[in-house]
Amino acid sequence: MLIDTHCHLNLKDKFPDVAATVKEAVEAGVTRMIVIGVDVVTSRVALELADQFDAVYGVVGVHPNYTNDYQPPQIKEIEELLKHPKALAIGEIGLDRHWNYATDEQQKAALFDQLDLAEATGKPVVFHCREAYPALLDLLEKRTKLPWLFHCFAGDADDARRATALDAYFGVDGPITFPKSDDLRAIVRLLPKDRILIETDAPYLTPAPFRGKPNRPAYVLFVNVALASCLAIEQGECALLTTANAERFFGLGTT
Ligand SMILES: [Zn+2]
Repeated sequence: MLIDTHCHLNLKDKFPDVAATVKEAVEAGVTRMIVIGVDVVTSRVALELADQFDAVYGVVGVHPNYTNDYQPPQIKEIEELLKHPKALAIGEIGLDRHWNYATDEQQKAALFDQLDLAEATGKPVVFHCREAYPALLDLLEKRTKLPWLFHCFAGDADDARRATALDAYFGVDGPITFPKSDDLRAIVRLLPKDRILIETDAPYLTPAPFRGKPNRPAYVLFVNVALASCLAIEQGECALLTTANAERFFGLGTT
């Protein structure tokens, strides 16, 4: 029984038939899916899906690439959404220096408000970080330690060391299945085993052998297989490990 800890079933144009996608995943053994917001609207949709489907949970927040029109009143809306019983965490929030949809100032304004909200509510935080690990870690090292998860971790060994010192969790996705990802696999072997989660980031980051097609939560199985091989453990053991880690991080009950 696996958990896809990061997917975007809330992107309606990418998932026109969410019921079929959820059913396919559950039948494949992916019994829970965590749908991540990227702005207020998609956060609300994530929770609507959580209302509709037992297997679905939501995470609410404003992604750094969506902060160009962020205004402080939006934090009130996020705070309201966070009261939903199936709203597990704040995310995905962070810094993105690969794209320039929002300035560094805009990204940081939204990030700080959302980190303050996490601190006030004690909710875990899911980070999106692209080409900005040292900058984000500099900020986090100055704050109260919270349950933090680096979704789709793509930092180097030093970033991994610093994040581990913060007791952070790490999301592993489709790229672990790619033949050319030896550097990523070497980094993943450095991570504490009780801090690794598996995710799809569907519809993005499709694992082998489906690369080139849209990703879906059922494919988190392929991430589990590749992670097990990377860590030299059995697939069943890897499933138990990553599910237990996800339950601990998100405060989910065991099933
Ligand atoms: Zn995402």
